[in-house]
Amino acid sequence: MKFGGTSLGDAASVKHVAGLIRKYVQTGYQVVVVSSASSGVTDELLNMCEWSLKDEKLIADRVNALFEKHLYMAEMSIENCGWLNSVLEILNSSKRELEKLLYGIHYVKEITPRIRDYVASFGEVMSTPILWGCLSSVGVKAEWLTGWDAGIVTDSNYGEAKPFIELSKLQLRNKLQPMIDRGIIPVVTGYIAKSQDGSITTLGRGGSDYTATLIAAALKADEVWLWTDVDGLMTADPKIEPSAGTIKELSFEEAVEMAILGAKRMHPRALEPAIADNIAVRIRNTFNPDNPGTLITSKPTEGGDVVKAVTVTRDVGLINVQGFGMVGTPGTAAKIFQILGKANINIMMIAQTVSESNISMVVPRKTLMKAVSLLETTLLGTDLVRSISYESDIAVVAAIGSGMRGKPGTAARIFKAVADEGVNVRMIAQGSSELNISIVVKDDDCEKAVRAIHKAFHLGR
Ligand code: ADP
Ligand code: ASP
Ligand code: MG
Repeated sequence: MKFGGTSLGDAASVKHVAGLIRKYVQTGYQVVVVSSASSGVTDELLNMCEWSLKDEKLIADRVNALFEKHLYMAEMSIENCGWLNSVLEILNSSKRELEKLLYGIHYVKEITPRIRDYVASFGEVMSTPILWGCLSSVGVKAEWLTGWDAGIVTDSNYGEAKPFIELSKLQLRNKLQPMIDRGIIPVVTGYIAKSQDGSITTLGRGGSDYTATLIAAALKADEVWLWTDVDGLMTADPKIEPSAGTIKELSFEEAVEMAILGAKRMHPRALEPAIADNIAVRIRNTFNPDNPGTLITSKPTEGGDVVKAVTVTRDVGLINVQGFGMVGTPGTAAKIFQILGKANINIMMIAQTVSESNISMVVPRKTLMKAVSLLETTLLGTDLVRSISYESDIAVVAAIGSGMRGKPGTAARIFKAVADEGVNVRMIAQGSSELNISIVVKDDDCEKAVRAIHKAFHLGR
């Protein structure tokens, strides 16, 4: 069971979560708990990195505010004094460590990806002991562990570190199975791990989902439950489209498509371990636990609708590479991809016109300027490329469903729906898997586009 930040937002939620876990443990379930940072905390920590560079005076205040929030959460959720004191000790030592780190950043005048991951790790390092304390306080035998203590080892690609799967699974099994056998519930920090040289790494935003599926695969669990604040994976983000409904069942490939394209801010690789070991994943609502949620398996019993869901990915940018020299010159695209690949910049979407004079790409917004300047310095001025332009205020809206395979007219319906709303489409792509059709629109237009497509395919409740 993984509890997202939205399930751990305040003391009442933590208490509620502990009660939920206790209920399942008492009915005979063997459970491993994975905990995210409390909602908003990872963002705040990443922000702290940036302004610590500039403003020394703010450090103590902002660290204090963050810790007050956690102290309050602990005090209001953990009734037993003994457990509370243990948790407060952990929180206080984290506070001192974080403060020193931020002053360090200020004086060194530099944030490296390694330090950023170190700072980001404090969210889970604070929330997890609170959940553990609360569980212990209500009589559940539990122990809390960091992702690295549990056994997860990654490469050193800070910010998006990749676990060494087989090694991590072996170590997870060795560490966690004996605890479970002794009737102890392991409560593990999501999102964070260590590289082989012992530095703290993060698995990428939303990474707690990934931690959970990796642990499930290591232990050959029956199911992974990702507890969140909505009833499951929905036909659209309910915060954008209030009539969005819960999808009862999905295939792994549809769910992967949704995760990659931004649904539920799920980690794009989160489902990989579950797919490899064929473990069912259920997305459930912490605050509506009677709802069965969404079940993701290799063979859903429900048929594939033409379009099952509409997603939006916002933190992205668009790059246009143009030049008549590219026409009929094999290897141009390869050259572009090589330049970006070497710099570890992920290309999320590609389109090329038949005339070959234009290649458009979507990349994560945080890598946009680096990508543009790399392409400019290597390609501009050559015979191949005339101009490189970019847009940073765009979003990708995607319609997803395995039923669109071989079904003519789906794209036409999508374009008509958004055009009727006056939304201009900047770029289009459909993979040959025909699982999704993605369009790039102005960021300001993306919610309108989601609602238009949602309506055109009658996805509302
Ligand atoms: P958690 O803290 O549980 O990991 P996240 O904030 O990462 O939660 O993701 C949950 C949120 O994702 C929901 O509150 C919802 O607003 C949003 N969301 C976006 N698209 C979808 C979708 N298709 N189905 C469900 N939730 C979605
Ligand atoms: N706390 C991390 C994040 O905000 C990981 C997670 O919530 O899954 O991205
Ligand atoms: Mg999440």
